[in-house]
Amino acid sequence: MDGQYLPMSEAKVSVLDWGFLHSDATYDTVHVWEGRFFRLDLHLDRFFRGMQKLRMKLSFNRTEIEMILSNCVALSGHSSAYVEMICTRGGSPTFSRDPREAENRFMAFAVPFGSVANKEQLERGLHVAISNTVRIPPKSIDPTIKNYHWLDLVKGLFDAYDYGAETALIVDINDNIAEGPGFNVFTVKSGRLKTPAYGVLPGITRQTVFDLCGELGLSVIAGDIHRDELKGADEVFITSTAGG
Ligand SMILES: *Cc1c(COP(=O)(O)O)cnc(C)c1O
Repeated sequence: MDGQYLPMSEAKVSVLDWGFLHSDATYDTVHVWEGRFFRLDLHLDRFFRGMQKLRMKLSFNRTEIEMILSNCVALSGHSSAYVEMICTRGGSPTFSRDPREAENRFMAFAVPFGSVANKEQLERGLHVAISNTVRIPPKSIDPTIKNYHWLDLVKGLFDAYDYGAETALIVDINDNIAEGPGFNVFTVKSGRLKTPAYGVLPGITRQTVFDLCGELGLSVIAGDIHRDELKGADEVFITSTAGG
């Protein structure tokens, strides 16, 4: 935080930070698996694009951030880790309400790697419910900026628990499937893969599925997936870099 390495228990954010008060922040999550980052370049690309779109500026350049992330992992001692980098709007030293006067802040951390699905769920599959909650539309919040606007996703989760399911998918404004809390979704039907195109965060692992399908000669497209299409799929799987 602000150029210092701290134990997690001492890493604290000011209650006046607009990242906390207004969700005025962008972030990225990457993982380290057996000592190596997974596609860190693509995650850094997305993080820097997000900051640029939100008109945020940091005093660290890309090489320095890469170094900080490596140090966080090394100091934490985890060979498999969940690594998060965050840029918040920060706050104004004079309590101005003008976001241009805020001093943007950078923080990063590494904690042990954890999966969205536990071991048992990974083996037998996750029970997922489709919530009627609508993902925040792209005209309100640009979904290509990884963000903390999660009230729709959290509501989706509670809906799913009410249905007796273990996780949720929520829909877009046209009632097609969008995404879940921190993951993208794919359907497989007759050997062809499909993933929602509209109103979702373009995940790096989602991108990796496209890359692998290209190598393997499998058909994969991004397009609208109606909820009936999802239910009628041969297989459904979710993707998330830091969620396993
Ligand atoms: C991070 C995230 C994903 C998954 O993206 P990856 O880069 O594959 O981890 C999907 N949806 C949302 C809303 C996310 O925040």
